[in-house]
Amino acid sequence: MQRNTKQREVIAACFSDEAGPLSVYQVHALAREQYPSLGIATVYRTVNALVEAGMLVPVVIGGTTRYGLAQKCHHPHFYCNKCDHAFCLESNPAVTTRLAPKGFVVSEYNLVVSGTCPSCTSENRRRH
Ligand SMILES: [Zn+2]
Ligand SMILES: [Zn+2]
Repeated sequence: MQRNTKQREVIAACFSDEAGPLSVYQVHALAREQYPSLGIATVYRTVNALVEAGMLVPVVIGGTTRYGLAQKCHHPHFYCNKCDHAFCLESNPAVTTRLAPKGFVVSEYNLVVSGTCPSCTSENRRRH
């Protein structure tokens, strides 16, 4: 019981605005820094429990299901093709409203732009 609570805490702490939505594998890699014996099956189970509890929402970005904070992930995301990370972008209601033709009311959207993130871009520059 004690052990499960600790695991859940470590997994829940991986999710933040800065981290962006994370895949189960990314959560596993992050959580293991705090809890080296953590298994992938536990991460799956805990992430599902957090979705059921309403803390996380699944978002498909770059062909992978990732999980973001339920209250916060209603905004566009940036997907980096190189490091396979998703980043939260600031939401801009003016832009989203303009995407929908006249007469259409936007209630939800899942907008993803992709390319390379700043750290992957600077890695490229160094190599060339
Ligand atoms: Zn987000
Ligand atoms: Zn990147």
